[in-house]
Amino acid sequence: MDKIKTRFPPSPTGFLHIGSLRTALYNYYFARKHGGAFVLRIEDTDRSRYVEGAVESLLRTLKRMEIDVDEGPFVQSERLEIYRAHAQQLVQAGHAYRCFCSKERLEELRAVQQTAKQPTKYDRACLTLATDEVEARIARGDASVVRMRIPEGETSFEDEVRGRVTIQNKELDDQVLLKADGFPTYHLAVVVDDHLMGITHVIRGEEWISSVPKHILLYQWFGFPLPVFAHLPLILNPDRSKLSKRQGDVSVEDYFEKGFLEEALGNYVSLLGFNPGGDREIYSREELIAAFDLKKLNKSGAVFDVNKLLWMNGQYLKNLPADELALRVRPWLEHGAGDVPEQLLQKVCDVEKTRMSLLSDIRNIIPMYLHQPDISPDLLVWKTADREDALLQLKGVRERMDACDDKTFSTPGLVEETLKRYIEERNLGTGNVLWPLRVALSGAKRSPGPHELAWVLGKEETIRRIDHATSLLA
Ligand code: GLU
Repeated sequence: MDKIKTRFPPSPTGFLHIGSLRTALYNYYFARKHGGAFVLRIEDTDRSRYVEGAVESLLRTLKRMEIDVDEGPFVQSERLEIYRAHAQQLVQAGHAYRCFCSKERLEELRAVQQTAKQPTKYDRACLTLATDEVEARIARGDASVVRMRIPEGETSFEDEVRGRVTIQNKELDDQVLLKADGFPTYHLAVVVDDHLMGITHVIRGEEWISSVPKHILLYQWFGFPLPVFAHLPLILNPDRSKLSKRQGDVSVEDYFEKGFLEEALGNYVSLLGFNPGGDREIYSREELIAAFDLKKLNKSGAVFDVNKLLWMNGQYLKNLPADELALRVRPWLEHGAGDVPEQLLQKVCDVEKTRMSLLSDIRNIIPMYLHQPDISPDLLVWKTADREDALLQLKGVRERMDACDDKTFSTPGLVEETLKRYIEERNLGTGNVLWPLRVALSGAKRSPGPHELAWVLGKEETIRRIDHATSLLA
């Protein structure tokens, strides 16, 4: 068998869509799994939709997602001569013909067909032009396109997801292959390139399946062998409509900007359309590559659930070592907080990571560690106690903390042990001691435990914050 080759051929019309990320990942997984090659091709033949900077942004995003390209990027606009020659070959063989119809005539034809509730199709007015007339008009400089001459009959192909697909050729229009500006349409370029680039498997979104019958005819006319086709079901909004901008973010960059991790996004998006097997949800890149199989592709659409993605991102954050998390949250620190010492940031990451779901959460988390937070005195009071008790406990625990050496503050575990021993020795209520201490250190209803906070803040700051809290109660 030929070497497996897959491809990702985005059109540079904007940012990378979540659905395109899934397509890219699947093609990449499949190539990797089979020791094949993953080809990148820029499909920029529709000049009216070209967006400046889109190619660079696509390349950056693929890189961030660690989707490594083996061949390319090939750029279609640099291959015009190849498509032109192929179009010419079809004209000579009688499978395609020149059409000189003006835009106005085509629009009028369309309007008439629409009014008559007929399918809108080219009426083949130019099919019967004599060869010498065609040549004369070309020589004269008349604008023309090349159209496919769809034959009678039906066209079938096998899709790995949908099974056998058959279409009656009378439903097909005489598709334009080469435009008047000399650029090919998608249909001609995709077939020629997939063949010339040795693509063995075409894995892409379901929205392209209706184009395949035309492509099959082109493959037959050129005498090219067919690749394997697999069309992926749609990604849906929660209301099961097609994933769209109106109901949330659809570009991969939007998710980076919100503070999602590349690996969490990749993991989540991979599971929208493919089930690796068990009921696990967290898979490494290697596991996804090993498990990827066209037979495991889902047949129906998958809902893109942002809450699930948030949960998954939280799982990934939790599993990152604190020093790595510190590196990754650093760019999120607001201007001015950029000089947070590395050691402090690592400690904060260590105690806070189970509570984070986005990298950007660090912005709300860090101020409390850098500056004395505001404390509402009532919050210092444990639910079964009163202000007097809170004051008493804070004073007691301050004394104990003050008596500790620096070594106690070198791990959260040692601080925890000290506090536990202190509570046991004096037979105190755990909540009576730990609650006011925790609030004194964090000012918040919810936060890491007091031993974790004391470890991050260090002895001096811990004592200072307890003193501040006592002054509020006194
Ligand atoms: N250029 C098409 C796109 O933008 C590629 C479709 C295909 O994979 O054949 O998605």
